Amino acid sequence: MEVTQLKNEEEFRETIGKFPITIVDFYSTECPPCEKLAPVYSRLAEEYPDVRFTKIFRQENRPLAASLEVSGSPTLLFFCHGKVQDKRLTGEIDERELRATIDGLIAKEDETYRKVERMESNEERDLVIIGSGPAGLTAAVYAARYGIDQVLIGQLPGGLMTSSHKICNYPSETEIAGMELTQKMADHVTALEVPQLFETVTSIKKDGERFVVSMTGGKTIGAKAVLLATGTKHKHLGLPDEGRLTGKGVSYCATCDAMFYRGKVVAVAGGSDAANTASLYLAEIAEKVYQIYRGTELRGETAWIEQIKKNPKIEVLFESSITKLLGENRLEGVQLDKPFAGSEVLKLDGLFVEIGSDPDMTLIAQMGLRTDEKGYVETAPDQTTSIPGAWAAGDITTNSDNFRQIITACSEGAIAAQSVFKYLQKTK
Ligand SMILES: Cc1cc2nc3c(=O)[nH]c(=O)nc-3n(C[C@H](O)[C@H](O)[C@H](O)COP(=O)(O)OP(=O)(O)OC[C@H]3O[C@@H](n4cnc5c(N)ncnc54)[C@H](O)[C@@H]3O)c2cc1C
Repeated sequence: MEVTQLKNEEEFRETIGKFPITIVDFYSTECPPCEKLAPVYSRLAEEYPDVRFTKIFRQENRPLAASLEVSGSPTLLFFCHGKVQDKRLTGEIDERELRATIDGLIAKEDETYRKVERMESNEERDLVIIGSGPAGLTAAVYAARYGIDQVLIGQLPGGLMTSSHKICNYPSETEIAGMELTQKMADHVTALEVPQLFETVTSIKKDGERFVVSMTGGKTIGAKAVLLATGTKHKHLGLPDEGRLTGKGVSYCATCDAMFYRGKVVAVAGGSDAANTASLYLAEIAEKVYQIYRGTELRGETAWIEQIKKNPKIEVLFESSITKLLGENRLEGVQLDKPFAGSEVLKLDGLFVEIGSDPDMTLIAQMGLRTDEKGYVETAPDQTTSIPGAWAAGDITTNSDNFRQIITACSEGAIAAQSVFKYLQKTK
C-alpha cells in the first residue's frame, strides 16, 4: 500500500477514524530527518498492508499540528480506531523503533479485536448475510436456492434503493420506484423462506474458524461464513451547522423529504446521478430547484442531464460551492463561494445534499478487512476478502469497476453466494 498524502484537517479527521491503525507523518520541507525517513516510511507501508501510512504537510496545517502538540518535524503520531496513542516518534527516527511501535500496535489490535475466547451465541448458521440492500437480498435468494443454512440481518430492506424515486435502468423495469423494486426483491426473499432479522449488527468477531455476529438487543449468531453487504453512507458537506440543521431544512434523501417542500424553493448540492435525479424529482414538487455543483458539467446518465436542461424549474449553478449554512432554528439559505444573481446569499427553504457516499467503516475496521485508500473492501473476482470465511458484495467493495448500481450490487451478491456455497462444500 502506498503512503497517502492528507491535504488538510478535514482529510486527516476523515482518515484516522476509518482504519484500525493509522500513522500520520507531520513533515516539513527543508528538513533532512524528514527526507531520511521518507524512503523507510514508504517501504514499511508496503510491508504492513493492514496499517494505513499517511503524511501531512505541517507548515500548511499549523493549527492542526498545534492542537496535537506537534512542534517538530518529522513527528509520527499513531492512531487506533481514531484515538491518538501516547507513543509518538520525532526527530531522527530509528527504523527499529518504528517497527517495534507498529508491531506493538498490531499485537494490541489482535488482542482487543480479533483474538477472543470461544464465544457463546444464541444460534449457529452456515452463513450470515449482513445488510439487506440489493446485494444482500440477491445473495439471500441465491443462497436459498443453493440450500445454504443462512440468516439475513438488515436494518430495513432495500438500502439506498429506497432513496431513488425512479429507477429506469434495472432490466425488465422500464420505470419503477425504488420502494416498489425493494418490495419485489424483499417478497422474493420471503417467498424462499429465508430467515430474516431486522436488526443492526454491532460487531463481527473471528473466533477460530467461525465468526460471532452480535446485534443491538444482545442477540448473537455464530457462523461459518459471513457476507458483508452493508453499502455506503451519505457524505456530508462538512460545514459547521450541518448537524444542527439536519432535519430542519437540510436533508440527505429527496425521496423521503421532498413532500415537505411543495411550492417552496430548494437546492440540491452535487452533480452526479443521485443529485440529478433528486433535482428532477424535486422539480415535480417544489416551485424552484437550484442545483449547486462545483464542476463545469453535470456527470452521469445523459438521459437525466438532458431532462435537467429542458426543465424550466431547475437552474444549475456551476463552479459554485456552499461555504455556509444560514438560519437559526431552521435553514433559511446558504452562502456561496461566488455571487449568483448579484448575491453570495441564496435564500432557500430546503437543501438536499447529494454529493456521494462513503463505506460505513464500523464493521470493516473492526474486522480488519483490507480496503483501498477510500475504505472500500478489497475483493477478489469471487467476492472473497482478505479474511478467510468473509465475503463482501455491493457498494462497499472495490469490484464491478467501482460502478455502484443496483444491478452490479445484485451481481456481486449472486457471485458471493455461489462462492460461499463452494467454500461450505469444501469445509464439510
Ligand atoms: C438517490 C439515489 C438514487 C439512485 N438511483 C439508482 C438508479 O436509478 N439505478 C441504480 O442502479 N442505482 C441507483 N442508485 C445506487 C444504488 O441504490 C446502490 O448502488 C445500491 O443500493 C447498492 O446496494 P448495496 O446492497 O450494496 O447497498 P445499500 O443499498 O446501501 O444497502 C445496504 C444495507 O445494509 C444495511 N446496513 C448497513 N450497516 C448495517 C449493520 N451494521 N447492520 C445491519 N444492516 C446494516 C443498510 O441499512 C442498508 O439497508 C441510487 C442511489 C441513490 C442514493
